[in-house]
Amino acid sequence: MSSRIELAGVGQVFQVRSDTDKQIEEFVALEGLDLTVEPGELVTIVGPSGCGKSTVLDLVSGLTRPSSGQVVVDGKVVTEPGLDRGVVFQQYTLLPWRTALGNVEFALEAKGGLSRAERTRVAREFLDLVGLPDFENRYPHELSGGMKQRVAIARSLSYQPEVLLMDEPFGALDAQTRERLQEELVQIWKRTGTTIVFITHDIDEAVFLGQRVAVMSARPGRIREVITIDLDRDAPDDVDIRSTPEFAHYRHEIWTLLRQVNRRAQLNEVNQVA
Ligand code: ADP
Ligand code: MG
Repeated sequence: MSSRIELAGVGQVFQVRSDTDKQIEEFVALEGLDLTVEPGELVTIVGPSGCGKSTVLDLVSGLTRPSSGQVVVDGKVVTEPGLDRGVVFQQYTLLPWRTALGNVEFALEAKGGLSRAERTRVAREFLDLVGLPDFENRYPHELSGGMKQRVAIARSLSYQPEVLLMDEPFGALDAQTRERLQEELVQIWKRTGTTIVFITHDIDEAVFLGQRVAVMSARPGRIREVITIDLDRDAPDDVDIRSTPEFAHYRHEIWTLLRQVNRRAQLNEVNQVA
């Protein structure tokens, strides 16, 4: 159960108020952006802050429509949000008045078609999948940041979307929790076969998770380069993949690209002012 995602010639223009004379002007956030994610693939998108990463994700999720170009998921042009696409954001979006179990059940209520008992059974199954079987009766304020994101992931996976869209979901977590969740996400992805698009500004996270890493440029946002990451994802548990020479090679390659991207963005800014 997974879908192909295609972004073709995508542009996004926002109307913004100018800092100087308060007139409405156009801000080109994305221009001519092309990216295809194959069914079942895990692609990470990395780029400088403000380059348009969240804008790309909003377009695929259907929260916004592009100013130009097309966003196609599973052969259909995206026009609105749908349960075929699950989204996990950086900030915790759980309902505070519902338990962990209740939050996952809530998503299943929205989907419909299941009895109360079936919803509970499926919700438990997905809390189990994200490693939270013993915390179903806790309220969000009783859970750590990492646990809350696990619940959010369980909630998004519970209605079995074809595509999972993640916008810096581990950005607010401490380094150790973050690494554990990255490892667990890879396991979950292997088990479910869901197509995943994962946004981050962390190079290590992009290399660790992505089968391919799409590096974005800024002003306007577009895909600068897509790098295939050939690491042994079936390595035994005690192999520290992040410390291998191959990992360091990819990290450096992407670091170099991002440096070029940032330099160019700075030059553009200078030219616009001049
Ligand atoms: P990122 O997620 O890479 O940090 P965003 O996609 O959030 O970047 O934003 C890209 C650019 O578009 C930023 O300069 C941001 O200020 C601008 N932007 C995003 N959404 C809007 C909006 N609704 N209206 C005006 N400008 C926006
Ligand atoms: Mg963002």
